[in-house]
Amino acid sequence: GGPVIIVGAGHGGYQVAASLRQAGFSGRVCLINDEAHLPYQRPPLSKAYIKGSAGPESLMFRPEKFYQDQTIELIAGRAVSIDRAAHKLLLASGEALPYGHLVLATGARNRLLDLPNANLADVKYLRILDDSESLRQIMPSKKRAVIIGAGFIGLEFASTARIKGLEVDVLELAPRVMARAVTAEVSEYFQERHREAGIRIHLGVQATSIEAEGGKVTGVSLSDGRHLPADLVVVGVGVLPNIELAADAGLPVAAGIIVDEYLSTADPDISAIGDCALFASPRFGGSQRLESVQNATDHARCLAARLTGDRKPYDSHPWFWSDQGDDKLQIAGLTTGYDRVVLRGDPARKAFSVFCYKGDRLLGIESINRAGDHMFGRRLQAMDRSITPEQAADESFDLKSALA
Ligand code: FAD
Repeated sequence: GGPVIIVGAGHGGYQVAASLRQAGFSGRVCLINDEAHLPYQRPPLSKAYIKGSAGPESLMFRPEKFYQDQTIELIAGRAVSIDRAAHKLLLASGEALPYGHLVLATGARNRLLDLPNANLADVKYLRILDDSESLRQIMPSKKRAVIIGAGFIGLEFASTARIKGLEVDVLELAPRVMARAVTAEVSEYFQERHREAGIRIHLGVQATSIEAEGGKVTGVSLSDGRHLPADLVVVGVGVLPNIELAADAGLPVAAGIIVDEYLSTADPDISAIGDCALFASPRFGGSQRLESVQNATDHARCLAARLTGDRKPYDSHPWFWSDQGDDKLQIAGLTTGYDRVVLRGDPARKAFSVFCYKGDRLLGIESINRAGDHMFGRRLQAMDRSITPEQAADESFDLKSALA
């Protein structure tokens, strides 16, 4: 019993509220929202939204009426502390909300660049709608963008900036793009495709300073001694999970808010989900913290089920996507720890999948412009099945037969 109070109205927070009502929960549900918009989808911020001209309402999960109809109380404000003994959440406004169960869905924030001039107006980040909106507005007046970090968000933005006619340089400290997340085969494919589009990718270098004149960015200096002219800098160097609220309340934290396989913190009346949660994973061993819509949404559903009487450990299969230029990357499973890869399809024809194996066990599939392989991978994993590396490499092997 008692009210469910949810801190953070992003992908995870929104979904817990919606799923609680779907499951028939009739108690009070409050969604604490510290952004000045109805809950919205984040992925388009570096993709369709920044490219197009649709308004903010195109991103919203649901119109305002939904929250009224479902009696989900959207409370504008920021949570500042948890009084665990009194079961109360304190907001910056001074209001104290009593909770039966508290959900921390605080997400993550951008890791900031620690360089002089990094706080100038022409140095941008991409996490929230306001970031995307302001980039979209200033881009037409910009000529040369330097993007720091060749992760998903940096490369998605790079493609868009190039399509919009800007000169684009991307800096990456690692020897290949998206190195933490994808195989070398996929990195190399995207490096080539971005180069074809006229984007210059600089690997193994970092930015050492940002130059400015009269408060305007003029360029970026690199660790190899070069200078790149720029009138716009976009930083995508990763995120930090928002764990402070939990830590200040004495809950265990590490590289995320520590939760068990039920997504419960050490306090049985407080759970954490999504980007901020470091969750125990019997399936993958140890603990995981993932940054994806799938993870936030499936965590939310698992928790809403537990809070309405259906207690099961979290055990969903991860999947992810990224759109860069005309290419669509989709990932099924978690590919970390593979020792062997098998290609299906042909990178030269711009459509292939990389099947990642550890021994004979299929860990995951990275697909480029092969949506069929991706959906196959998700269905195969849901059935806890595998195919052999030989079958994966053989284009005449009918994938559907493995699902029968
Ligand atoms: P969030 O969606 O970040 O929501 C957390 C919310 O909590 C935020 O609104 C935050 O302001 C709020 N908050 C934090 N602290 C407090 C507080 N104390 N009080 C009140 N509110 C608070 N994932 C994919 O799977 N595919 C993609 O293509 C993809 N593209 C992306 C592109 C961009 C530009 C970004 C930024 C992310 C992308 N992601 C993508 C990742 C995905 O959006 C996140 O994994 C997902 O949003 C995580 O959901 P969440 O609810 O955990 O956190």
